[in-house]
Amino acid sequence: MRKIIFVFVGLALVVLLGTMREQKTSVPTKEPERVLPIAEFEKRITKKPFGIYITPQNSPVQPERFTGYHTGVDVEYEDITTEVPVFAIEDGELVLAKWVPGYGGAIVLKSNLENKEIYIFYGHLDPQGFTENIQVKKGERIAVLGKSQTQETDFERKHLHFAIIKNKLDLRGYVKTEEELNGWYDPLDFYKNLSTINEGVVWIVTRLSREKFLSLV
Ligand SMILES: [Zn+2]
Repeated sequence: MRKIIFVFVGLALVVLLGTMREQKTSVPTKEPERVLPIAEFEKRITKKPFGIYITPQNSPVQPERFTGYHTGVDVEYEDITTEVPVFAIEDGELVLAKWVPGYGGAIVLKSNLENKEIYIFYGHLDPQGFTENIQVKKGERIAVLGKSQTQETDFERKHLHFAIIKNKLDLRGYVKTEEELNGWYDPLDFYKNLSTINEGVVWIVTRLSREKFLSLV
């Protein structure tokens, strides 16, 4: 009996050591997953990138009613007549989901990235069926874009204004100074150094770029 127990314990040790060794030498290759807020995200930022200084005279959108540094990116969908869904890019809470002047339907997703609070903003959405103060999961469909030149978008073209705000909630789409612009991240930094593109909305980035992003937070 004792012999059997020894053999058993011996075998268990061999298996355990084997696993530990494997963990030590295995290298994470495609981690973590990033979810895009909308399909063809980067490719469709054709008019207003993050940080551009807009005036009614220089704006790529005419006529223009805004002036200042753009706090997010505009992703353009005027050519798409079907519904365009938007997705939660992280787990979090919808702390705001309502009609806001200048945006029409707007959503703010409050999230936590390794204990750092961020607010993720989506503007120009169809506000029908919005619910506030609910938890959503990364990758969950949270709304669709509002229709062009209607109340849904507050009479803007069909596009997504997407922004990532540091620390505290600030709904401004434009600010007067570069210093104020420091209250926002360039959303493309969240998606830098993409190593693989999956089908649909999930993009995979390298561990390095996630660390880089977190160092900016
Ligand atoms: Zn915008």
